[in-house]
Amino acid sequence: MPDATATATDAPSPAGLPVSCLCGHIRLTTPSRTPMGMAFCHCTACRKQSGSAFGASVYFPTDAVFGALPAETRERLAVFEHPTDSGGTMRCFFCPRCGVRIFNAAVLPDGRTLRPGVAFKAGVIDEGLDWQAEGWKHIWTKSAVVKLQEGWECFEKGAPPPPIPPKEEGQ
Ligand SMILES: [Zn+2]
Ligand SMILES: [Zn+2]
Repeated sequence: MPDATATATDAPSPAGLPVSCLCGHIRLTTPSRTPMGMAFCHCTACRKQSGSAFGASVYFPTDAVFGALPAETRERLAVFEHPTDSGGTMRCFFCPRCGVRIFNAAVLPDGRTLRPGVAFKAGVIDEGLDWQAEGWKHIWTKSAVVKLQEGWECFEKGAPPPPIPPKEEGQ
């Protein structure tokens, strides 16, 4: 009988997913290969930002994202801020050369605390993201411009926040 416990514990920490902008000025790696949530977002900000019908976001733990971000990359990223519906601020990190949005980090209304999940724009991930995985949600569908399809898991506003995974060994 295979020892599942030993396999899980002995497996090396998987590397993250490679991310790059359109021009290659920004390159980084997500803190792990599996996001803690995935959503197609139909909010107005995602529509405008993507220049398309809706945005696609995958979420990773905020502390891990900033912890894994090399200082040089952090300095290269430009930031655009806009207020959120809940009274906080969305900090939007993008490439200043080609304009591609990389990820968003929301500051809560207290003005200091970051929301526990950072939203990467799913399309900047070069390879390894499971677009066919179960669990993709459609959020902010109250402002959707496309016809909502049967079988989509839809939320009029944001989805309830995903559970924060336990910290991995060595992090
Ligand atoms: Zn770029
Ligand atoms: Zn959105």
